[in-house]
Amino acid sequence: MIVLGLEGTAWNLSASLVNDDEVLCEVNSAYVPTSGGIHPRDAAQHFASNVAGVVRQVLNSTDPRSIEGIAFSQGPGLGPCLRIVGTAARAIALRLGVPLVGVNHCIAHIEVERWKTDLSAPIVLYVSGANSQVLSYRQKRYRILGETLDIGIGNCLDKFARSAGLPHPGGPKVERLAQESKKYLLMPYVVKGMDFSFSGIVTAAQEALKSTPLEDICYSFQETAFSMLVEVCERALSQTDKSDLLLAGGVGANNRLQEMLSVMCAERGAHFFAPKPEYLQDNGAMIAYTGLLMLSHGLRTPITASGANPNFRPDEVEVLWIKG
Ligand code: AMP
Ligand code: MG
Repeated sequence: MIVLGLEGTAWNLSASLVNDDEVLCEVNSAYVPTSGGIHPRDAAQHFASNVAGVVRQVLNSTDPRSIEGIAFSQGPGLGPCLRIVGTAARAIALRLGVPLVGVNHCIAHIEVERWKTDLSAPIVLYVSGANSQVLSYRQKRYRILGETLDIGIGNCLDKFARSAGLPHPGGPKVERLAQESKKYLLMPYVVKGMDFSFSGIVTAAQEALKSTPLEDICYSFQETAFSMLVEVCERALSQTDKSDLLLAGGVGANNRLQEMLSVMCAERGAHFFAPKPEYLQDNGAMIAYTGLLMLSHGLRTPITASGANPNFRPDEVEVLWIKG
């Protein structure tokens, strides 16, 4: 089966063709803000201007009659961006006369990595711009074991970086500066059961800008926020008795976070999996592949139910494609 997938939840407009075995083609068009952070209207305008060209390039790589389904990121994400990819996906599905399927972006991050690693049902740490969740598959759903009570870790890093005058995206810049310090400044460490909160760290870090070298703040920021995530992941492994931890989402590219998670896993005899950068960042292949799984298990999204779902939670989806 060949499926065309369209991703467009926030910054990356991406179209891809996959079959059961491999990614056949992927074309990306990233939105880069000229100043400040991601502006939903500007990002959507970028998507609207580029979606036809991106889709045309992908379609040129194959005979469109071989495509058996169209998958699109239905949420979570920025409403104006989701509406552009949803509209494009509906138009292509109607034109080719093939089924449409709306995909949960978070589940797509997990499924593309399970595809590439052969993991069955790991604990997942999903850390992106807007989302931070610890998940585990059980009885036909990805259950959310713990999550942020306020903002996602990526937005938290980006917001602080903007206050420090660093350009978007801030995460990689904070990581680079953090490598130049070992001086720890106390920051709010907030874990409540399996949930966590980051907004206090942003406020403390912004306050510290008045008196503390930026490298020390970046170092302390990462050590505090990442320790909170590691603590919750360790508790998730312990409570579920699982021994695989999978990292997903853009913040997963951070070497220090990967190092801390791999040390924790090694100490308890668990396996840690960090995927290749192209699957950590938002990509069309993950949407196409998850769409393929859904379509091949009889799941379809009728046009009337294909509207954008900006707050789409992974546990809303019935996962029919995992056995047992
Ligand atoms: P996503 O929403 O999954 O596309 O991820 C985007 C987020 O990942 C943004 O908030 C970036 O700042 C963040 N990010 C990307 N690379 C890194 C990194 N090396 N360290 C920390 N955050 C990062
Ligand atoms: Mg993502």
